[in-house]
Amino acid sequence: MEFRKMRRSRQELPKEECEAILQKNTAGILAVLGDGGYPYAVPLSYVYQDGSLYFHCAKAGHKLDALQSCAKASFCVLDQDEIVPEKYTTYFRSVIVFGQAALVENPEGVRAALHALGIKYAPNESAERLENEIEKSGARTCIIKLTIEHMTGKEAMELAKQHS
Ligand SMILES: Cc1cc2nc3c(=O)[nH]c(=O)nc-3n(C[C@H](O)[C@H](O)[C@H](O)COP(=O)(O)OP(=O)(O)OC[C@H]3O[C@@H](n4cnc5c(N)ncnc54)[C@H](O)[C@@H]3O)c2cc1C
Repeated sequence: MEFRKMRRSRQELPKEECEAILQKNTAGILAVLGDGGYPYAVPLSYVYQDGSLYFHCAKAGHKLDALQSCAKASFCVLDQDEIVPEKYTTYFRSVIVFGQAALVENPEGVRAALHALGIKYAPNESAERLENEIEKSGARTCIIKLTIEHMTGKEAMELAKQHS
């Protein structure tokens, strides 16, 4: 299918900026097709690597059940939300991703994703501590890989004007 274009293309961010936002931030909202056809939007930590997003979670739950019946998902990261009351607006910047989610099945892939998450969220801890943590939690953790098919970034018109 063809993903739709942004109506206000002047506010669209280039790919490199979208990637920088994904790399810099620490949480986003994963939207899946949840129980009873309701969208389920759940906040998650993540790591962005090689065009994919990786999430770690327990081996059961609403989001996993949802992804098992429909692999299509969307993920939104909010980079900036600066309220400007005198203008009744917000200077925002965000990225939205669409893609297909799958569980990483091979132990090496799980370990690599946990390692990348560990480096991102605990950069000052020792390599030994991270290895211990992966050893301890690896078996009860599952890794979701979201392969990105479409990614857009958008910022408030006022920010776009500053950058042009
Ligand atoms: C900033 C942030 C980062 C997080 N990072 C991670 C992460 O990396 N990995 C991870 O596994 N979890 C993370 N969480 C927790 C995550 O949001 C979910 O609570 C968790 O993943 C369980 O999801 P589930 O669908 O399996 O939960 P279930 O317990 O199966 O969900 C059942 C119901 O509980 C409610 N529910 C579940 N989670 C939440 C929530 N966060 N807020 C309000 N209601 C909720 C919903 O109504 C849902 O339908 C994070 C939360 C925050 C806020």
